[in-house]
Amino acid sequence: MADLKKLGEFGLIDRFHSHLKYRSPKLKLGIGDDCAVYSSKAGTYEIVSTDALIETVHFDLKLTTPRLLGRKALAVNISDIAAMGGVPRLAFIAIGIPNSLSLKFLDDFYKGINRICVEHKIELAGGDTVASPKHLFINITIIGEVAKNKLMTRSGARPGDSIFVTGTPGESALGLKLLASKRKKWKGSERLKKQVIRSHLDPVPRLTESQLLAKSKARVTSMIDISDGLVQDLFHICEAAKVGAVLNEEWLPKSPALRRLTSVNNLNLIDFVLAGGEDYELLFTLKNEDARKISRQFEHAKTPVTRIGEITSQSGKVVLQKENGKIEPLQKNMGFNHFRSRTP
Ligand code: ADP
Ligand code: MG
Repeated sequence: MADLKKLGEFGLIDRFHSHLKYRSPKLKLGIGDDCAVYSSKAGTYEIVSTDALIETVHFDLKLTTPRLLGRKALAVNISDIAAMGGVPRLAFIAIGIPNSLSLKFLDDFYKGINRICVEHKIELAGGDTVASPKHLFINITIIGEVAKNKLMTRSGARPGDSIFVTGTPGESALGLKLLASKRKKWKGSERLKKQVIRSHLDPVPRLTESQLLAKSKARVTSMIDISDGLVQDLFHICEAAKVGAVLNEEWLPKSPALRRLTSVNNLNLIDFVLAGGEDYELLFTLKNEDARKISRQFEHAKTPVTRIGEITSQSGKVVLQKENGKIEPLQKNMGFNHFRSRTP
């Protein structure tokens, strides 16, 4: 801690700056003045999103590493840009640092940020550095660009559209449950446990997939990223578009790790798929006639996309068609909500 005191606010900012290697051609002025200055192309929208993370609420320093925390803090913002069909360009960070945090922690945190910035060509163009009385506080704002005719919002879903999801949601929530309890109590192989923990601590924002969709001729009608849980985020689409949805239990993607670990530990697989949060997968709808086109396009992609259901005209109603043929209504509050408790 002595080191941090010696550096002071401005020494610390210089040190943060020295970790950041990516320089954006869009940026005229970055860290070091009162404002960052940048310009964007004609024919594009600038899209902006911000997310706050508070120690004990969003992360536990005992369960992650500073590098992974830096990566994830930015990854969740990148995911919001991907959900609109855009490409991230610049980021800003406000950080509240408690006395107890070491300089080593902050160096590693910025190394994590730098790494993901370099991977996705994002320049961290400024921020604010303050002391926090107790907990670490991180707020990241991200700016991206999207071609005006490629913007994907939540509100465009129409009855008859197919619903798709990338990847295999559910692993992150299981990873968190595993991390937060005694690991030895869990049955199953270390390899699978590590995999679901990784899904939680190091989610991959689906930029590649979003760009594939943006470039495709298939008519994507709406998109959202899954931060709170598949069903809860599907409700967001349904509410924005005043439609309903039917999900097909049999079609839901179930990762082998999730299948195995829920089975040997007596947990409900489908609950994790439907309600587990923090997957940062993309949930999107498209014109039913284009469903095959998208499936073909993703056939050889690293990340699968799966058709999981259909949009209906029953406004605000989301149901699950079970494997036994029965129809079960799904609740909006399945999944994570800050002012309620967590399921599963
Ligand atoms: P001001 O007092 O004008 O707000 P600051 O002293 O807070 O300026 O910040 C100086 C410069 O350093 C600004 O360009 C700001 O964006 C940048 N900056 C401050 N904190 C951070 C940080 N944690 N990471 C990256 N850049 C930062
Ligand atoms: Mg300031």
